[in-house]
Amino acid sequence: MWFRRDLRLNDNHALSQALARCEQVFCAFVFDQEILGELPRVDRRVEFIRAALVELDAHIREISGRPTPGLVCVLGVARSALPTLAEELGVEAVFANEDYEPKALARDAVVRARLADRGVGLYLYKDHVVCAPHEVLTGAGHPFSVYTPYRKAWLARVDAQRLAEHPIDPYASHFADRPAGMAGNVPTLAEIGFLASNLSGLDLPLGCSGGQRLLREFLSRVDSYHESRDFPGIRGPSYLGVHLRFGTVSIRQLLREAQARAQAGSPGARAWRDELIWREFYVQVLGGFSRLFDAQGKAKCFKPGCDDIRWETGPLADALFFAWCEGRTGYPLVDAGMRQLAQTGYMHNRLRMVVASFLTKDLGIDWRRGERFFALHLNDFEQASNNGGWQWAASTGCDAQPWFRIFNPITQSERFDPQGRFIARYVPELANLPAPARHTPWMADPHTLAAVGVEIGKSYPTPLVAHAAARLRTLARFEAARDQGTA
Ligand code: FAD
Repeated sequence: MWFRRDLRLNDNHALSQALARCEQVFCAFVFDQEILGELPRVDRRVEFIRAALVELDAHIREISGRPTPGLVCVLGVARSALPTLAEELGVEAVFANEDYEPKALARDAVVRARLADRGVGLYLYKDHVVCAPHEVLTGAGHPFSVYTPYRKAWLARVDAQRLAEHPIDPYASHFADRPAGMAGNVPTLAEIGFLASNLSGLDLPLGCSGGQRLLREFLSRVDSYHESRDFPGIRGPSYLGVHLRFGTVSIRQLLREAQARAQAGSPGARAWRDELIWREFYVQVLGGFSRLFDAQGKAKCFKPGCDDIRWETGPLADALFFAWCEGRTGYPLVDAGMRQLAQTGYMHNRLRMVVASFLTKDLGIDWRRGERFFALHLNDFEQASNNGGWQWAASTGCDAQPWFRIFNPITQSERFDPQGRFIARYVPELANLPAPARHTPWMADPHTLAAVGVEIGKSYPTPLVAHAAARLRTLARFEAARDQGTA
């Protein structure tokens, strides 16, 4: 069993199949240098993975009831390291769960071929989603490009059987002993080549046990999710994104919980279920529309003509981009969101929309630069949802925000952080301002600013752009692309 983004034993489809079909199952994980080599040396996600593996390793012994089975961890390039390991272990088959990202598909094709050369089969199962790409199609047999009809078709197709748990307990005796001479411990962070981040100091429970704890806590408040989810200053969402990303919770378990409560009439559970279906929607967009990435892996606009939009470039655009990255735009809610990301690796969904809109429509910067920045920093980075979210905000995607609808960062702030509590948490230099002034400190009267020691342009930046003028520039940018008959 080759674990990848499914770092749990319970309700793991491929593992359940492997244990049911084979008498002896080795469990393996490859720290893939192709992926890790592109990351900075401090990365919360590597630590999250490591913590999940330590727990998984112990869980294998606990479930098998024996001290000898466990996880075999390999440091190497998965394309070659996995086939080599399969040969060393002398296995007849490799089981894994499907991964729909383009690079993962390419890797799996190579691994499949190299395993085949050794007479070993690669068996892949659906686990990351309930409906895989190409499973739910329009009447004409195409992938959906609009969410609402996709959701309807998804709901019509998904029944209790599709959400059923894949058991492992009945086959617990099939875990093989870890072979003598093979490394017995999950490598340390230093051995993987990374330094510690602030992950352990964050309010983020780790591993499967952490995922279950977060889920239980969230289910106690899911009924009000539809009302609370949009306000970054309160504990509204589930914070389970990173656990879904690395498979430390099962999507089927979440949807079982969501469906049962939605069917019992909980509007919060219905709203949460619909968000989980957005996740499935974007996975089927990524899998269904190959034009999202070119041959070199560069992201393309879903709406083909939008690739002609003339985004701002050059030294000024670079300076604006770096100010956005560092939470120095002068718009407090935008800065609070960007600083939340930098400090925790999480950003509230409302803020992801606000900061993405700000980058593309206030600063006029290509959404791909923001997408890449998020990919590096989000704990829950998923190529499908990240690409979908960015293209939604930039109005270049499928079922996107219309190009002429432009978020106003001030009214978003007043509406979704009315007391300025979230701003006060992440932009502490404004915390002593009265709540209304936290949204627009540059408009506060000089006495109020002086009384709390805020100097606009010094202790907190002057806004990088005036929203009204930036809005007009964006409308002109999109209109020009439209006049060319492209966007
Ligand atoms: P909850 O509100 O508790 O939602 C539960 C789950 O539903 C999430 O964990 C996620 O799996 C799914 N979900 C919720 N909203 C969306 C959505 N709009 N699209 C797809 N799935 C959704 N989500 C990611 O998982 N990875 C990303 O890299 C990512 N990048 C984004 C970039 C932008 C610009 C935007 C606007 C959104 C992005 N999202 C991404 C979607 C969403 O913001 C996060 O899923 C959510 O904030 C995660 O927090 P949570 O688990 O507390 O969410």
